[in-house]
Amino acid sequence: MQNLLETNVLIVGGGPAGASAALSLLKYSDLKVVIIEETNLESVKIGEQVNSSIFDLLNYMGIEKKSFSENNFIQGYSNTAAWGSERIMVRDSIFNTETESFQLNREEFDYMLLEKVSEKGGIIFPRTKCLKFEQIENDYWTVELKHETKGNFSVKAKYLIDATGRSGSVCRKIGVESKRHDELTAIGRFFYFNESDMIKQDIIIESIEDGWWYCASLPDRKMTLTFFSDAHIIKEKRLEKSENWNELLSKTKHIKHKISQASSGGKPWVKNAFSQVTDISLKKNFLAVGDAAASFDPISSMGIGFAISSACHAAKAIIDADLGHENTFQHYQENINMIYCQYLETKTFFYQKEQRWSDSAFWQKRINMQRISK
Ligand SMILES: Cc1cc2nc3c(=O)[nH]c(=O)nc-3n(C[C@H](O)[C@H](O)[C@H](O)COP(=O)(O)OP(=O)(O)OC[C@H]3O[C@@H](n4cnc5c(N)ncnc54)[C@H](O)[C@@H]3O)c2cc1C
Repeated sequence: MQNLLETNVLIVGGGPAGASAALSLLKYSDLKVVIIEETNLESVKIGEQVNSSIFDLLNYMGIEKKSFSENNFIQGYSNTAAWGSERIMVRDSIFNTETESFQLNREEFDYMLLEKVSEKGGIIFPRTKCLKFEQIENDYWTVELKHETKGNFSVKAKYLIDATGRSGSVCRKIGVESKRHDELTAIGRFFYFNESDMIKQDIIIESIEDGWWYCASLPDRKMTLTFFSDAHIIKEKRLEKSENWNELLSKTKHIKHKISQASSGGKPWVKNAFSQVTDISLKKNFLAVGDAAASFDPISSMGIGFAISSACHAAKAIIDADLGHENTFQHYQENINMIYCQYLETKTFFYQKEQRWSDSAFWQKRINMQRISK
């Protein structure tokens, strides 16, 4: 492998944010792009609900809906919640104004975006880890990398993008700080249905004393069932053990019935789901996109849409900066801060609708939260 590769933009992370930043750069400029991804691109992906504005974003990046297989997007027919009362009601779509929602096949979706990056001339290194980041005289970045089989090499780039998701691992390595607002954690399992089973294409949320459950049907007769709570509650209740997770599920009023005919796909998986915002303004030629820039409570279903839109804005900021425009990164960060501030307000308003468990640690933290002043 060549020891030093030069490019214009180095993107770390090949999820929807990293791929979208690359696609926008490749479509709207002549800048060269390299993506570093630590996995072999086959890992299981979590998070799937999007609204119809995703098609406008894909269109902006030059990707048509028909590039995806027919069952990549399944339409959500009903979106309901037992939140604030034990009665099931149509869920308020307060986080967005779009009414149409879709459930994605995330693995196919993420893979397809990367395939398009490669088709359009972007270079992708899967199974590659970042060892060291260095910025020369507050300008060019050099990153030392290690490919699983081909060994060590370096990439020199004028611009560096952190697209590593909630871990924000580039930010942490180069000393960029994030502000975290809660410790929400997800613990979920996938369930599978037979050909003969009728599965309704719906989404249902049910709040309980220690958090809330989320159940959604996915493409390919799959269903995701996830419990959201604070990390310390999940630890205290030892929910990583299937029997404890099942026991908690059995106490739900509605959700437990959703999987009565399904078979489970293994032990519960655990994912961070906290809300956090990052401030990149002190670093030159550096941007964070997607969850690395700002991450949202999955109840908002904002993650994937924001990952793509923030990446498109980041690409525009880089293209303009490269043309000599000033303060483009600062404007990008101001826009992220504004979106995040509005989101915190909406999130507080939404959680405050659940007043049944004012003594529970989980709800107390959320319902007693002051409304954010702008
Ligand atoms: C339980 C749960 C449910 C969710 N549900 C929804 C939902 O219904 N709708 C919605 O819109 N959003 C949802 N989200 C959020 C959504 O999944 C994320 O917002 C979205 O994946 C963010 O995309 P991203 O590209 O920023 O990060 P990611 O998708 O996390 O991608 C980051 C990529 O970077 C790679 N990477 C990480 N570190 C490194 C490194 N050091 N070097 C190289 N590569 C690295 C990872 O392997 C990964 O491929 C949910 C999240 C959770 C946890």
